Amino acid sequence: MPNFSVKIDGRVETLPPRPLLTDLDSLAPADRELYYGVSEEIHGHRIRSFLAARGCPFACTYCFNPAMDALYQGQWRHVRVRSPESLVGEIAGVVRRYPTEFVAFRESIFPLDPAWLEEFAQLYSSRVGLPFYCHLRLDLLDARNVALLAKAGCYSVNVGLETGNERLRRDLLGRGASNAALIEACRLLHSHRIRILANNMLGLPGASFEHDLETLRLNQLCRVDYALAMLWQPYPGTELARYAEAHGYYAGNYDDLEFTYYGQSPLTFPRLRDKQRVENLQKLFAVGAALPWATPLVKTLTRLRPNRVFNAVFRSMYFVFHQSEIFPHRMRLRDWAANIRHLGLES
Ligand code: SF4
Repeated sequence: MPNFSVKIDGRVETLPPRPLLTDLDSLAPADRELYYGVSEEIHGHRIRSFLAARGCPFACTYCFNPAMDALYQGQWRHVRVRSPESLVGEIAGVVRRYPTEFVAFRESIFPLDPAWLEEFAQLYSSRVGLPFYCHLRLDLLDARNVALLAKAGCYSVNVGLETGNERLRRDLLGRGASNAALIEACRLLHSHRIRILANNMLGLPGASFEHDLETLRLNQLCRVDYALAMLWQPYPGTELARYAEAHGYYAGNYDDLEFTYYGQSPLTFPRLRDKQRVENLQKLFAVGAALPWATPLVKTLTRLRPNRVFNAVFRSMYFVFHQSEIFPHRMRLRDWAANIRHLGLES
């Protein structure tokens, strides 16, 4: 049977994967009652998630998508997209049945083909009409697709700035956009009042604290609504993890990786002090991005030992910005508690 690895007499036999499904519309919508029905925690949550597409045509060195593409012999990069009719039909059905205030699209990159977006904007706004969030690449945006996203009801987007240093972005991460292009794309999103959650990776292999300050500066210039910083983790099977191991930045003890990327860097730094500064900056990053005038103070604070107050600052910014800027919806106490567990930070 395809998709299986089996052990025969101590030997592992891996069979090739099943060919990718090309017509996603042929799938029945997921039976959400299977999990909403057993968990009030999930059922009562007012954000409902959907997938409009599968696959990604890009090959960022830190991401799982290139490994999927290798597994599927170059087929994964051919993005498969649901029709607007099928997608909106599923969402409308879910919204009718379950209390919903906000819709989140979770595929790697939300479809931006103009004809697809035009049809989606018309169907979604008339049949669902709820604010939504999606994942985008800033270098794919232009005046036309941003206007269509806004017309459909796009409230917030998740984009990767990742690093403020253009050389690291190009040579280490495999992403080509210039800082000027990223700033311009953010300006376009702002012009339609679309809120921006920016992902950033601090502590990249071979990068310095000064590089991470460049990342902070780029977030300030882009005027993002929430600058979320993570400490880069070497996930096994990714090109960047192999690079980190080969160049002595990482010892390769993958089993010891933490559950969260908000805690510590697993890399080897020249001095413990350098590592602590990067870890502190990651906790205070959103404050520095929101208040550029406080940058000197943030830099000074990074000289202290990592502590629970910084963890608390990170958690507070995460909840305030998620709640007020990115996913505005009514949250219950249990949702807050679940989110605290999800961050996996010591309190
Ligand atoms: S980081 Fe984003 S754009 Fe890059 S390969 Fe992964 S999903 Fe695609």
